[in-house]
Amino acid sequence: MTIAFIGLGRMGWHMAGHLAKQGHSLCVFDANDEISQKWAQTFAGEVAQTLQAVTANAEVIITALPADAELRLVWDQCFEQLSAGSIWIDHSTTSAQIARELNAAGQRREVCFIDAPVSGGTVGAENGTLTIMGGGDQTAWLQIEPIVNGYASKTTWLGASGAGQLTKMANQICVAGVGQALAEGLAFAEREGLNVQQVLEVMLKGSSTSWMMQNRSQAMINGQYEFGFSSTLMKKDLRLVLQEAKQLGIALPVTAVVADLLDELATLADPAWDWCSLMERQRQATNKP
Ligand code: NAD
Repeated sequence: MTIAFIGLGRMGWHMAGHLAKQGHSLCVFDANDEISQKWAQTFAGEVAQTLQAVTANAEVIITALPADAELRLVWDQCFEQLSAGSIWIDHSTTSAQIARELNAAGQRREVCFIDAPVSGGTVGAENGTLTIMGGGDQTAWLQIEPIVNGYASKTTWLGASGAGQLTKMANQICVAGVGQALAEGLAFAEREGLNVQQVLEVMLKGSSTSWMMQNRSQAMINGQYEFGFSSTLMKKDLRLVLQEAKQLGIALPVTAVVADLLDELATLADPAWDWCSLMERQRQATNKP
């Protein structure tokens, strides 16, 4: 089975790397050719120079792109030449609407589109322990599950097209407030002059522990954010969630506040930094005279 992998960023780099190491027949493409060449040197894999070349003859197409706009661009450039019976697995976090739209468009040519956003961060991608949330045709999902298991420890089909993206939205709603609360707690402890490492050790064993605390608090204390899930992408995710909530006519007050704080953060931190750099905004606000 020939697999085309498109998007070798912080996540796709590792996911495609696992597939290459597992011996799949794989061809990759990234809009940034420098990244593609570096990936090929690292994993001894095949690189295509164009989207058309990477998708020609592929039975499975995997995308890990930033957002709706990039996914649509790539789809529009490849769709006409996709083989009937091929399956497109999209690991980007996008709107549920675009997933449904591409699924419907695909059906007209017997191309199956599966929305399969992921959780677990770059560490999960590197270690092959991602959580994958699938939506779309269940028969196709069962066909591709063994492939994506190559970089996941938990894969679940959640229902019709869009169900994967909606589940990812629920995940982002749950994590957004936790991230900001962690920044508030750590900045508070700093401001009170406590030994923050000690405070953290206590909290990790207490009721406030979380994935964010386990995986991000050290970076926040050290002020080192050049890794992970960029605040640009987190902001995009929360805006998608708020758009979906607006359509449902419901309010998500905490999510809305964190989205606004990420807007504010853009003025004082590198938007490519992990979104736990919200700590820097909080630090500034906490230490203001
Ligand atoms: P990234 O920005 O690091 O990587 C995206 C890659 O796509 C880049 O290498 C870019 O050059 C490439 N690209 C952009 N437009 C393209 C095009 N038209 N054709 C080909 N390649 C193109 O993003 P990431 O952190 O790898 O995230 C990818 C997706 O996974 C996003 O939707 C993100 O929300 C989601 N996600 C990321 C994380 C994380 O921790 N980074 C965690 C969970 C989910």
